[in-house]
Amino acid sequence: MLKEITVSGVRPTGRQHLGNYFGAVVNFVKMQELFDGYFFIADYHSLTTHPKSADLKANVKQIAIEYLACGLDPNKCTIYVQSDLPQIPELYLIFNMFAYLGELEREATFKEKVREQPDNVNAGLLTYPVLMAVDIIIHKAHKVPVGKDQQQHLEMTRDFVARFNNLYETQYFPEPQAFNFSGNLVSIPSLDGEGKMSKSKGEQTCIYLSDEPEVLRKKIMRAITDTGPTAPNSAKPQAVKNLFDLLSLVSTSDTVKTFDDNYNNCTIRYGDLKKQLAEDMVVYLAPIREKIKELSGNDKLLAEILGDGGSKARTSAAQTIKDVREIIGIKSF
Ligand code: AMP
Repeated sequence: MLKEITVSGVRPTGRQHLGNYFGAVVNFVKMQELFDGYFFIADYHSLTTHPKSADLKANVKQIAIEYLACGLDPNKCTIYVQSDLPQIPELYLIFNMFAYLGELEREATFKEKVREQPDNVNAGLLTYPVLMAVDIIIHKAHKVPVGKDQQQHLEMTRDFVARFNNLYETQYFPEPQAFNFSGNLVSIPSLDGEGKMSKSKGEQTCIYLSDEPEVLRKKIMRAITDTGPTAPNSAKPQAVKNLFDLLSLVSTSDTVKTFDDNYNNCTIRYGDLKKQLAEDMVVYLAPIREKIKELSGNDKLLAEILGDGGSKARTSAAQTIKDVREIIGIKSF
């Protein structure tokens, strides 16, 4: 039986953090065993923030290294760079006809970017959901492992697909579903006490997979808390809840329970909680951190893996474009 197809990617805008890992990559690693997996480095997407060429090149390498360090295996899945597929821009052009201005303008990430970079509100930011949809449907994916922040984009992908399928009276593209093995999409919190972990909020608010133990300890010890509970069993303020959320990702359930009990009976010492979180985080990330170091500088291996992956991904993308041209009626005579 043919396996279901899964596609997802990460933008090369810097090193990967815990949000990328638990929202996306940890799922890629499991999915490569069960699905026909395509995992890419979304370099076109990062152009919306106008990176320097040298930074972009270094970051593409970094994401590739981190994919491998986290456990992606080129013998089990296809790993490639988005811009190695010339079929992407063609399908992007076609799918721009299935996206409406109003819905693109209402989209939450677009509004956030308008606030973040008011001097660079380029059209690429507006049509980001179209490019993302194309990344997914170029391989006719069924499941897309992403974090909660991408939920709205996935809904838009399904809308674009439904419009295409309706207009051309076809079932050609499956309507893809966002996916996380836990059953729920996750949002990993930032260390600054509010919102999701995000590179755009600054180095100190993110836990990077490649952070050295001393750096990790410092960041976690500086994380925002409050003065502590004053009544038994009170609700945790957001910043404290965030620390518990991070603890439950990397610590044992006994440890989480002990701190939870201490919180509920008002004996908690946040310093102890943070120390425990830092030590458990250091241990949890150690194998990935070591592997990243081991792979860094092995450009030959990366070039081979991305070269092979690009070629496999192009074969799949070329078939889709051929079919789409046929469906639409764009034919060469
Ligand atoms: P990006 O770095 O924006 O390219 O994101 C790559 C993947 O990581 C996407 O699937 C995001 O949904 C996921 N991701 C990024 N930040 C977080 C976060 N704080 N929590 C959960 N998932 C995240």
